[in-house]
Amino acid sequence: MAKVCILRLGHRRLRDQRITTHVFLTARALGATEGVLCGERDESVLRGIEKVSEVWGGKFPIRYEENWQLFIRKKKRDGWKIAHLTMYGIDFRRVLLKKKVDKCVVVVGAGKVPQEIYELADYNVSVTNQPHSEVAATALFLDRLFGGKELGKKFEGKIRIVPKACGKLVVHGKNSLRDINESD
Ligand code: SAM
Repeated sequence: MAKVCILRLGHRRLRDQRITTHVFLTARALGATEGVLCGERDESVLRGIEKVSEVWGGKFPIRYEENWQLFIRKKKRDGWKIAHLTMYGIDFRRVLLKKKVDKCVVVVGAGKVPQEIYELADYNVSVTNQPHSEVAATALFLDRLFGGKELGKKFEGKIRIVPKACGKLVVHGKNSLRDINESD
């Protein structure tokens, strides 16, 4: 599977805390490999996501980056492609059909994004040209990038849900790793 770094651009602590957390939670659950928070520094978002990985498993390192331009330029030098999610871009399905992407930074805006990101991005891609949610755009983009394979990803954590047609079954501790490769 491709390596994917989710970069949240222009985070505002007061307005975006919940939705930024949801962008990272969604990205982690749907196969992204790392997260980078830009805009206002917000330890509670970072700690919250780290805590989820600690309990539910999987590697999803996340950190704050003050200078997003430098970060993106460095990633580009290291061979990563930059996909900026924006309703003004071209259809994401066209880009993903034509390009094979092995390492991708997915840029997800908060408020109005700076013009510079349109120029730095290799692809400005839309998930429809209607305004909607950064969480939905992230989910659909990742699912199409991974071709649905991310839905079968195994997480080895301290806790695991055993899927049930009815009711709840949660396995804790060592037992959560037992039979992890079996379909329950
Ligand atoms: N006015 C903002 C702008 O300049 O794009 C929209 C902000 S929107 C609430 C926050 C983020 O959601 C955007 O920066 C983009 O990453 C994502 N987003 C919203 N609608 C989208 C769409 N149709 N396609 C792709 N991304 C979208």
